[in-house]
Amino acid sequence: MEHNKVVLVTGASRGIGRAVALAFAEPETTVVVNYRSGQEAAQETARAVEKQGGKAVLCPFDVADPDAVKKAFKEVVDSLGRLDVLVNNAGMTRDNVFPRLKTEDWDLVLDVNLKGIFLCSQAAVRPMLKQRHGRIINITSVVGFTGNPGQCNYAAAKAGIMGLTRSLARELISRNITVNAVAPGYIETEMTHALPEKAREALVAQIPAGRTGRPEEVAAAVRFLASEQAAYITGQVLHVNGGMYMG
Ligand code: NDP
Repeated sequence: MEHNKVVLVTGASRGIGRAVALAFAEPETTVVVNYRSGQEAAQETARAVEKQGGKAVLCPFDVADPDAVKKAFKEVVDSLGRLDVLVNNAGMTRDNVFPRLKTEDWDLVLDVNLKGIFLCSQAAVRPMLKQRHGRIINITSVVGFTGNPGQCNYAAAKAGIMGLTRSLARELISRNITVNAVAPGYIETEMTHALPEKAREALVAQIPAGRTGRPEEVAAAVRFLASEQAAYITGQVLHVNGGMYMG
């Protein structure tokens, strides 16, 4: 590629997002490291990207805040000149059994996991349309396909991502922009560390691979979907789950 590549990863301060940022850490590539509150962790991600030979820029904003998203993407495109890849990874949970699920926790989880992808993708599509090239990769979850007790809000948001991914893929493929999803199973990050040991053991027992996944294994799938080799793949979901669910 003759120009420098710009890749924006939301929620890249830790976990899967950090591994995705590192998967793009190479010369001629600037990784824009988004986070909301974890500044030190995000700086750690940026240092690791640069250590691997890539360039990194920190870009804090809340993916669910429309004004903040617009401003951040404008600054990225104004300063770096383009946007090649958007990885919509930022996500969060607020679990509860359905009768006790609070409306505010429904709203928050839908806002961050689903509306955030709408806002960031809309902001990214403008420069991508101009370039007539782009890649959008959305991180959904196995629970968006299987459902999970105690996660009605999260599973609804993650299932919603698939409808958005497929519709946007149909709108954009003629302009050389692909939109795909990656659906991790049970990956070792802070999000899953919160699980009690018993629940964890029960979960692992359901995974045919007999182990949890690593953030780098999710990142490798994202990296592939962002590559030129994946130009003819759009509207798809790539499951990375050790056989936990086969769509
Ligand atoms: P972590 O909780 O470890 O990391 C979440 C990241 O998202 C952090 O960088 C956090 O940054 C950021 N973030 C959260 N809310 C916002 C927001 N409003 N705006 C911007 N950034 C935000 O999660 P994982 O790495 O485990 O998960 C990453 C993605 O993968 C999520 O979408 C998750 O749903 C999905 N996933 C994870 C699975 C797993 O087993 N771990 C399984 C299936 C899907 P900060 O703290 O700075 O706000």
